[in-house]
Amino acid sequence: MEPKTIKKIGVLTSGGDSPGMNAAIRAAVRAGFYYNLEMFGIYRGYEGMIQDDIKRLDSKNIAHVLERGGTFLKSARSTEFKTPEGRKKAYENLKSHGIDALVVIGGDGSLTGAHLFFQEFGIPSIGLPGTIDNDLSGTDSTIGFDTACNTAIEAIDKIRDTATSHDRLFFVEVMGRDAGFIAINAGIGSAAAAILIPEKKMPIEHLVEKLKIRSKAKKSSNIVIVAEGGKSGGAGEIAEKVKKFLPSYDIKVTILGHLQRGGAPSSFDRLLASKLGVAAVEGLLQGKYDVMAGLINNKVVYTPIKKAIVDDKSVDEEDFRIAKILST
Ligand code: ADP
Repeated sequence: MEPKTIKKIGVLTSGGDSPGMNAAIRAAVRAGFYYNLEMFGIYRGYEGMIQDDIKRLDSKNIAHVLERGGTFLKSARSTEFKTPEGRKKAYENLKSHGIDALVVIGGDGSLTGAHLFFQEFGIPSIGLPGTIDNDLSGTDSTIGFDTACNTAIEAIDKIRDTATSHDRLFFVEVMGRDAGFIAINAGIGSAAAAILIPEKKMPIEHLVEKLKIRSKAKKSSNIVIVAEGGKSGGAGEIAEKVKKFLPSYDIKVTILGHLQRGGAPSSFDRLLASKLGVAAVEGLLQGKYDVMAGLINNKVVYTPIKKAIVDDKSVDEEDFRIAKILST
């Protein structure tokens, strides 16, 4: 597309928060300053866009945010933005500030909103993949995924200490919505006995058999990683089912939950967010609209948002094969 003149860019974070969102905001804003643009923070995602919670940012606003988890712009879910009236209000507010382009940092829902908004009002926009779930195509990793895996592994290491001391069987549930990326990474990285992910069905009987074999091999601890959103249920339900087969086992359940969303971003996520924040602003200036900036093989790639949200990225078969070998 022929680049439009862009002078004022609005940045927002939306949907589920993820570690590294701050680093992405900071990079986009710094890049904007580098190219002599005015930069605006749109607070509380699309909700703030509708309620005119929009402020011009200066370099003080983005000092010391790179290393902090969460998002200083705050995130929110907005049902009003899903209505044409809500989006019209949001557009009027952007116009009143003279904002002529947007950087939207969020997951597939937020990027869907950005796509729709671009279709309706034609405001140049670029999405950045900000989610711990890693469920967006067009990037090898989403911002926050690496930190969430590190947090999960750290927690599982601690669970293993108590599991070993008491010869217990632990079912640990990790986040990821309908995707098993955190589960497979954290499972391999913490030597899990088995990994249950939504993308692959494992009959309870198989799992029980596996655990029995490991028990015979005198493995002193067993940790099974369960991804939330699996068709066979969460960690609690799976544990209940297994208990019926193995009544003598000392079984415990831990749900890691929201702690996986917090914490200082890892070095990897800081770098990813920094590269993509700059890529968002440069992409807008080059006339790349309605796309998501991602990193594939360490190169910035712009993928149409429609493709990034629809293409189903699935857990690498090779990772699954490795997990199987290592847990046998
Ligand atoms: P995430 O971005 O983490 O996937 P959500 O799915 O909750 O989180 O989406 C975040 C926000 O994006 C929603 O609250 C809504 O404001 C907006 N959004 C999501 N889907 C749509 C849609 N189909 N049309 C318009 N806006 C949407």
